[in-house]
Amino acid sequence: MSLAEKLAQERRARLAAERLLQLKQAELSAANRKLGQHALALTREIGETRAEVANVRVENEKVKTDLTEAHAKIEIAERRLWHSIQTIQDGFAVFGRDDRLICANTAYLSVFDGLDEVAPGISYTRILEILTEEGIVDLGETPADEWRARMRDRWLSTDPAPTVIQLWNGTCIKLIDRRGPEGDAVSLALDITATVRHEAELHAARERAEAANRAKSAFLANMSHEIRTPLNGIVGMAELLAEGTLDEEQQLYVNTIRNSGEALLVIINDVLDYSKIEADKLSLHSDAFDLERCIHDVAMLLQPAVRGKRLNLLVDYDLFLPTRFIGDAGRIRQVLTNLVGNAVKFTSQGHVLVRVTGVPDPDSESCLVHVAIEDTGIGIAPEKLDHIFGEFNQVADARNRQFEGTGLGLAITRRLIQLMGGRVWADSEEGRGSCFGFRVTLPTAGGAQPIPPRIEGKLRHVLVVDELAVNRGILEKQLGCLGSRVTSCRSGAEALALIDGSVKLVLCDHQLADMEGLALAKALRDSGWRDVPFILLSSNPGAVRSDPARGLIQGVMQKPIPRAELFSRLSTLGDAVLHTPQTTDAKAEGSSTPPAVQSDPGRRAMRLLAAEDNRTNRLVFGKMVKDLDIELRFVRNGREAVAAYTEFRPDLIFMDISMPEMDGKQATREIRRIEAESGTHVPIIALTAHAVSGELEGILSGGLDRCLSKPLRKAELHAMIEEFCPSCARPVHRNKEEHAQDGKRGETTGTQPDQSTVQA
Ligand code: ADP
Repeated sequence: MSLAEKLAQERRARLAAERLLQLKQAELSAANRKLGQHALALTREIGETRAEVANVRVENEKVKTDLTEAHAKIEIAERRLWHSIQTIQDGFAVFGRDDRLICANTAYLSVFDGLDEVAPGISYTRILEILTEEGIVDLGETPADEWRARMRDRWLSTDPAPTVIQLWNGTCIKLIDRRGPEGDAVSLALDITATVRHEAELHAARERAEAANRAKSAFLANMSHEIRTPLNGIVGMAELLAEGTLDEEQQLYVNTIRNSGEALLVIINDVLDYSKIEADKLSLHSDAFDLERCIHDVAMLLQPAVRGKRLNLLVDYDLFLPTRFIGDAGRIRQVLTNLVGNAVKFTSQGHVLVRVTGVPDPDSESCLVHVAIEDTGIGIAPEKLDHIFGEFNQVADARNRQFEGTGLGLAITRRLIQLMGGRVWADSEEGRGSCFGFRVTLPTAGGAQPIPPRIEGKLRHVLVVDELAVNRGILEKQLGCLGSRVTSCRSGAEALALIDGSVKLVLCDHQLADMEGLALAKALRDSGWRDVPFILLSSNPGAVRSDPARGLIQGVMQKPIPRAELFSRLSTLGDAVLHTPQTTDAKAEGSSTPPAVQSDPGRRAMRLLAAEDNRTNRLVFGKMVKDLDIELRFVRNGREAVAAYTEFRPDLIFMDISMPEMDGKQATREIRRIEAESGTHVPIIALTAHAVSGELEGILSGGLDRCLSKPLRKAELHAMIEEFCPSCARPVHRNKEEHAQDGKRGETTGTQPDQSTVQA
């Protein structure tokens, strides 16, 4: 190889080595650079980590301090809490889920003074044992193990009810225990001795106040009772005086005395009743009674007030509802008198309708009876409706102020119905009318209930003429139920146009808009309808009696018509239509009182004994029965009544309840005792100062058969005497001529109540 070539080769080798060197140097510097960067990053990282570590250290320090502070705070809080718990005077304890005491304050432990065993760790059961064994708790009559068992059961329940225990020294502790979700329990023992003592004092004070209130009510009741006796005399004498021959002015005076007396009696009765309810002296008496009759009695009583207005008093007694129930008839009558009386009082025209419906329950032999009294009167504003059942509440506005009343009627009504287990309600629209009602469940009485007759075969078609749609509606319903076809109309002219040969009976209201009922009867007769029976419906049948046209009709029925009377009248008429020519004996048909019976000289007079200590009352009684064919004897107390019973052998005894020496109840018991030996029974009628008074309690159970309230009403008294007149005695009513003679006889022989026996 040439040198040149060698040199060239060397140069090439050197160049290659230089290039390699350069390459390696470049790689080296790149590696260096990388290393430098890495070192830089590392340094930075180290720096950061150092900073973080420093931070963490600071934070750690802070946490440490916070923790220390928190511990300190917890300690303070715990100390304060415990201090507080120690400070409270009531006991506080905490039990673990194993029912062992964890901690308890001094108040809790003080009960166990000196008993070191009661300390944290003791079980609840053991605490109960210590309480009983050491006599710490006053168990009264309860045996210790029974008390412990009860307390333990209570403790173990999830939510123990608070309980009160009494300690040996009279301290009352109320235990309130709460179980936590973990099963541990907190127990609070509150000292309620002061509260219990205060409550006992309050209770005693309340008892004293109630007793004072009862005493006041009893005093009021006595006072009212005392006022009633002379008032009865005034009313009774005024009634008798009114029957005599008086000129118009005297009649006005007498009526005023009587009306004022009766008004006063109503007020006194209200006060008496209310005070009796207040004094807890009112209890209900139970006996069989006829609800429908009761309603009609009330309607009759209110007739005078109804007649003075353009008002119709109607009764719609469900045709198929029983009428005989068991209950306190007097109280039901009182409720009805209040409600119907209010309806009449606050209604000047239109109608007052007593609607009776019910749901009989054959299983329990009782009936849920609904009585609603609907009127078309002044009504009551809605905001006042809620208050009217309260005591002394009257709707006071200009329209209302003209009406009298005590404001006690509805309050008494509500209390009475509540006592019967029923409910009273009221509904009203101002200016349009009101509807008051009550519902009670009454047991149905045994014995016959009125059965509606079937008259469809006889009185197939009845024409009802009445201006009042409600009344037409009632008659349509009743006659329809009995099987008759009914055509009804509101005027005489319509009736004349509607009548045809199929009509078997005309029922016509006394007063029609276009003519009187009797004028319609005359028009019918004049136009050839001579044979169709015509019955007049009137709320004042007495007014028809003297009318010459009375002979044209077959009878007058008192409105509202009792169902029994409607039934019997329809049955009689139905039979007459079938079998006999039309009766023309209007007198016999129309009279609502029983026909006078000829005295029978072969039989003795009925013997009547009246026991009454008050002279005025004896006078009133004597005068009221003076027209009857009876032998009357008066006695002045129960002792005399018993003596007269054995010696006079009365057929009927009227017995005043409150009499000196021996009262009416005692005398009745004595008479019943004598009777038990002889096996006889004389009816004894109680005379009470107040028809519906609580005195009824015990009166009827004491052997008295019935009860009559004072002031006595002549009609009631006569009806009662007539009812109990035995068949061996003459009927008590004489015929008219005898009356006239007896009137004279009465004047000559006298019917002085102080005479022991009088032929009245
Ligand atoms: P009062 O003796 O005043 O009638 P009540 O307790 O019977 O006492 O009635 C309270 C009040 O309720 C009455 O004064 C009257 O304002 C109102 N009220 C009762 N019944 C009726 C009625 N049917 N129509 C209008 N207002 C009535």
